[in-house]
Amino acid sequence: MSALQTQIRKRLHEARRVLVTSHVRPDGDAIGSLLALGLGLANLGKEVQLVLSDGLPASFKHLPGSDLIREKSEGDFDLVVTVDCSDLKRAGPALGGRKPDLVIDHHATNEAFGNLNLIEPEAVATASALMRHMPAWGMVITPQMAAGLLTGLITDTLGFRTPNTTPECLRQAADLLETGAEMHDLYYRSMIRRTFPAARYWGAGLSSLQKADGIIWATLTLEARRDSGYGGNDDADLINIVSAIEGSDVTLMFVEQKNGSVKVSWRASNPQVDVSQVALQFGGGGHKAAAGAEVDGGLAEVQERILDATRRVIKGQTGIP
Ligand code: AMP
Ligand code: MN
Ligand code: MN
Repeated sequence: MSALQTQIRKRLHEARRVLVTSHVRPDGDAIGSLLALGLGLANLGKEVQLVLSDGLPASFKHLPGSDLIREKSEGDFDLVVTVDCSDLKRAGPALGGRKPDLVIDHHATNEAFGNLNLIEPEAVATASALMRHMPAWGMVITPQMAAGLLTGLITDTLGFRTPNTTPECLRQAADLLETGAEMHDLYYRSMIRRTFPAARYWGAGLSSLQKADGIIWATLTLEARRDSGYGGNDDADLINIVSAIEGSDVTLMFVEQKNGSVKVSWRASNPQVDVSQVALQFGGGGHKAAAGAEVDGGLAEVQERILDATRRVIKGQTGIP
């Protein structure tokens, strides 16, 4: 066992009160990893608080343990852990200014902002990194934990179809099926099923589609969110649909936010392009093929800046004039 692994195991076992949190606008990997680690720690007899400052999206309420998730922490902790979170800002208010004792993540852009940092960029999901190590930490993966872990694998690989889907990830999925996770159900709920308001919100985004200079982009305004009745502050995963449209190097999604900022998502379809490099310019991060940032400013102005920077990165990385 590496020195880091020994230290992590020791901290996990010594802790009594543990806070586990993840990033704002939590996705399937954030939620699934949080639940798997949280339930694993609870099974070791720890007092655990699971906190997501944006709360749990309704579409993940079927996951075992999700009723334990709160929006705020209470009291003191002797161990603070973040999962699937690349930097302090992205953890949002859940940490309450605390530096995490342990950061478990798979983002290449992770700033190693904890005291102990387990960062495995070649893992397809944080859930995959957790699966690698939980047995060595003395955690037995139960069927409840398996549901969260499999949800993380499914959602971060978009249903096992991203280029980084590895044999390891598929073997882990098979192990989770053997443990008792219902893949068809978890897959349907996280990747396929959508609410009626989300579909109407998609409609607004799809009618905004534009294409120029190798970029396809869509815009979701606050007005569209209001009109459709969509309750989230994200793109309802519309980027997964838009990025399937052929004929672009990069796909972009702009989601207007209530606080005067814009949530930007990038997806690269050209393997020569590393969109995390553009996201980093705007204080965001992510992976080579999928990145995001929250950018202060009005919609039109942010769009212009982002499109301009993205054009420049495409040109620099591909040599396309
Ligand atoms: P999204 O565009 O939110 O679907 O995210 C795409 C990828 O970029 C995911 O791996 C996210 O974790 C990451 N990401 C999104 N927003 C940010 C941000 N503000 N800071 C760092 N990483 C981000
Ligand atoms: Mn995530
Ligand atoms: Mn992830």
